[in-house]
Amino acid sequence: MILLNDYFVNREEVTIDIEDRGYQFGDGVYEVVRVYNKQLFALQEHMERLKNSAKEVCLKLPSDLKKIENKIRQLVKENNLEDGIVYIQITRGVAQRVHNFPGNTTPTLVAYTIKLNKPIENIANGVKTKLVEDIRWLRCDIKSLNLLGNVLAKQKAKDSHCFEAILFRKNLGAKENIVTEGTSTNVFIVKDHIIYTHPTTSLILNGITRQKVLDLIANLSLQVMEETFSTEEITSADEVFITSTTDEITPVIQIDKVIINKGIPGPITKQIQKEFKNLLPEPTYS
Ligand code: PMP
Repeated sequence: MILLNDYFVNREEVTIDIEDRGYQFGDGVYEVVRVYNKQLFALQEHMERLKNSAKEVCLKLPSDLKKIENKIRQLVKENNLEDGIVYIQITRGVAQRVHNFPGNTTPTLVAYTIKLNKPIENIANGVKTKLVEDIRWLRCDIKSLNLLGNVLAKQKAKDSHCFEAILFRKNLGAKENIVTEGTSTNVFIVKDHIIYTHPTTSLILNGITRQKVLDLIANLSLQVMEETFSTEEITSADEVFITSTTDEITPVIQIDKVIINKGIPGPITKQIQKEFKNLLPEPTYS
């Protein structure tokens, strides 16, 4: 079943108007929530971020957050989803094509579930990545439907047989080649036992997994700095890992031609993976 606005509908019965602004302008916001063992993980945090993304693009939510949240819970039950993700998208609705906000449109909400092939191998063994210039807009903190910059970078990674592109901004004032995030992940490095990740500015999405990792690091005797680092610093890091709702905590073992930590997940990455696993309703790897 698909959730279309207030109703549960079969996929074949869902119709989206060609003048929906999500389709024509990418004029909307979205969320991806993980389901472990039939339970939605960090739903509240995702809903809060959805509300903020909508606010930042002046999009009125179709109903209050609690109501949407309940519908999402119902959707997971309807579809009997054990492990997977829920994709939730809200657009500004249907109107004759003009760039400015049309008056009085009703937002379109679509949500559906996807069973997940758990990325166990990547999480256990690590992944190869590629450095790609970050050419996206300057409001990457908004989880907007406009993902072309991310799509193009991910394809470059794919063409080089890499799992993820690690994005960097060429010029940021005095700073050069600053790593921001992945195309759908946040990036962490470890250097001399200190963990670094890009601060929460408008150049990155403040990932829910990122926030969980920062919380759990605070409870360990590890030091973390929300500070920028360069492409040079990431390639000379002791450990690197990326985080996201679907990829959890995935070790990075190669960046372009540079092998990280002899090509195996590092000890601090593994420690964080272990702690993260304890937060989950059902472990996805062991
Ligand atoms: N950055 C970007 C650009 C993303 O698309 C995602 C995935 N939503 C993330 C970071 C990670 O966010 P989260 O941990 O909330 O999935």
